[in-house]
Formats: sequence, C-alpha cells, structure tokens
Amino acid sequence: MVKLTFYGGVGEIGGNKILVEDREEKIFLDFGQSFTFGAGYFVDYLQPRSVSVLKDLFEFDLLPRVRGLYAEEKLEGTGLEYTEPEIDAVLLSHAHFDHCQHIAYIDPQIPVFLGEGTKIFLECMEMTSHNCDYGEHDYRTFRSGNRIRIGDMEAEPVHVDHSIPGAYGYLVETSGGVIAYTGDLRAHGPRKDMTEEFVERAASAEPVALICEGTRMEEVERRQNYSEAQVREMGEEIVGGTDRIVFVMRYSRDVDRFRTFYEIAQSTGREIVLTPRNAYLLGRRIEDEHLDLPDPRTDDSIRVYYRKKKTGTYDDSDYYTWEREYMDRMVTCEDVRRRQKDYLMEIDFYQLTELIDIKPERGAHLIRSMSEPFSDEDVSEEVLKNWVDHFGLEFHQMHASGHLGRGELERLVDAIGAKKIFPVHTENPQLFMKRWKSAERVGSKASCKLS
Ligand SMILES: [Zn+2]
Repeated sequence: MVKLTFYGGVGEIGGNKILVEDREEKIFLDFGQSFTFGAGYFVDYLQPRSVSVLKDLFEFDLLPRVRGLYAEEKLEGTGLEYTEPEIDAVLLSHAHFDHCQHIAYIDPQIPVFLGEGTKIFLECMEMTSHNCDYGEHDYRTFRSGNRIRIGDMEAEPVHVDHSIPGAYGYLVETSGGVIAYTGDLRAHGPRKDMTEEFVERAASAEPVALICEGTRMEEVERRQNYSEAQVREMGEEIVGGTDRIVFVMRYSRDVDRFRTFYEIAQSTGREIVLTPRNAYLLGRRIEDEHLDLPDPRTDDSIRVYYRKKKTGTYDDSDYYTWEREYMDRMVTCEDVRRRQKDYLMEIDFYQLTELIDIKPERGAHLIRSMSEPFSDEDVSEEVLKNWVDHFGLEFHQMHASGHLGRGELERLVDAIGAKKIFPVHTENPQLFMKRWKSAERVGSKASCKLS
C-alpha cells in the first residue's frame, strides 16, 4: 500500500513536507518552513528558545511529531523518544526556505538528496547569513536524470524552470505506480524547456498521482506578472532612457534576474554594481559548470559595492572573510555619487540607508524586480514609499514570477494526465477540485491511500 501524508503546504503557499510511504520505505518530499510559520505564537523577539527549539515548536504543533525523523540532541525534553532513523531519505526540490529550511532538525543519519546547485545555495546561506545552520547531513547530490534508489523505491529528479537555479521535480516509482511531484515551477522563464521536459517525462510515466504546486491558482490574479523577456524589455527602456542612476531590487538567488539586468547594463553601456553577498553567490554559482554566467572575478563590467563598516575606512579587517573576495572590484558611496549615470546598482531594502551617502540626483530610478506585497497594509511597503519620495526617485514594479500562471498550470495538469491530483503550495485547493474531478481534498496531516 502506498500512502501520502501532507504535513505542510496544505491550503498555504510553501512549507511543503510530504511523506510518501511504500512497503518498508518512507521518504519525505521537501521539508520546508511555512511563510506564516509560528505566527500567532511568536513575534519579534518572542521566539522559540535555542536550547529547546523542537520542544517549543511541538508545543504549538508547528512541526509534526514523527518518530525516527529528528536528530537526537534536538529531541531532548520533547517527550518524543529518539529512535534510529525510520525515514529513509529526504528529497529536496530546491533551495527556497519554504522547501528546505526545517532539515535543520533532521537526524544527520538520514540521507538528504538534492541537486548540485541546491547544495551550493545551502552552503552560501550558511556562510553569508547570521543564524543560518542546516546542521550536519549526509548530503547526496545529483544531476537531472540520475536515478535515486531508496530500498525498493526509485526516484528520478527532473529539472524544472523556477526562480532559482537547480530546481527539480520528481518522479517517484512506488509499488502502486509513479507519483509525480512538481516542486515549484514556471513555463515563462528562460529555461521553460526544462519544465516542458518535466511535463513530457511525467506524462509518459502515466502517474497514478500528481502532487502539484498551485501558487498562482487564483480566481483573479492579484499581482502583475511578466515573463523574464518582458522584464528585460521594460528594464532596458528605463535604463536606456535616463542619464540618472538606476537602482534595482531583486531576490539574491534569482540568478535569471541577475542575468537580465547584467544584459541591460551591457546594452546600455553601464557597469552593474552588486552587493558583496550577491557577488559571492554569483562566484560560487560559476563553480556549477552548467550555468553560463559572467564571472565577477574577471568581468570588468561588474563592480561590488562596499559599505562603510567599523573603522569607516574600507579596511580589510572591517569585513567578513567571504566579503573580502571582491575588494579589488570595490566601488564606494563616493564613487557612485560622482559617476551616477555610469551605474546600474543592485540595492537591498535593508541597505537603503546607503542612499543618504550616494545622494541620487532627483529623477533617478528604482526598479523593484521582486513580487509585490500581498497586503496594502504592508509596513515595509510604506517605508519604501517614504524613501522613494524623500529622494525623489521614480519607482517601477516589474517581476517575472517563479510559478506557473493559472492557464499554464491547467495545461500542465491536463498534459500529465495523472489519475489523482493533490494540490499543494496553494491557498486555493478548492479551485483544483472545481476544475478537475480527479483532484483530491488534501488534509493537513491526513493520509491519502493510493493503492
Ligand atoms: Zn520556490
């Protein structure tokens, strides 16, 4: 008998934790954190205690009490007894935190399968973020098309296009037939061919079940979305049409978006300025031979912005070791202030204070190339607007989502033609049920039998 249990990603976007049980084998597909994780119990500095995190999370049912899953030292005081692993593997789809964050609590003896690219991102996060520690793991990396053997089960990762490199869906062969899992994916990005390949492979496997993401399954889409090519076109028009500095905000791991703005900088004769963190990520990505990216170590049109820290004199010792790698590419607030029209500069929301030193000329531009906030009452949105107004910037919103639009999603589900559909990573599973008779109501922690 094959059984699916959904411990996360049910009626919500993100937090996927899907247990697949077949005969003697048990695997998890993703082990991520919800976007709303802990809301209602934890806020600001009221957080789970580091000495007893699992105990505090179990108290409010924020993680499932599954035997043979968690690390021995994390279970102390929880009342859940430690046993040797009863879970055979965790298969990660990609490095977004809503798919991988909670592996931090998992028994290091349990193998964690992940793409080469995903492993690099996890290492970068641990290196460049405070408080990020995924713990020790038996990591096993793969490339698309490799086969993973877990006892009598076999799984095949197939690459997909998403807003982060190294994203995969899975085809899991069980005694009851193939289960296809989409992870997160889109069909309007530069590598839509990878998503198409996933759909073809999934369809030809004639799956008994499709576990499908539905981020943008909405009655009416609330936010404006473009394709990556449209972002490139609109961005180029703005940058090419001004003699002021242009600032860009993007997700640091959205490498496609980096490439888009890098190309815009090239075609408009500007240099692109990265944060040390984004330069570090890019440098590490180059090590992944499958990505064709400009190398920040050798590309003369890439500069790295160093903020004043500690001594205020840009002394080496002011910066973390990982930050120092690009100091020979350094531009400072003084450089940027003097040569504003020469730069297309990435800026992080939390470093808007640099504008005080850069003193952008009025009429300069700020492009937010990230998703818009869900709510009109978003506090940081108000703050951003105040900064934009204060410095007289022209604000633009343009983003290509990492997820399939509703029409694309419907085509994907129809093309794969699975016997049963399990909607996850969506706030609107009922829309799946309305559209397809074969869509199942997925309950939080309720198990579904496949055969
Ligand atoms: Zn994602």
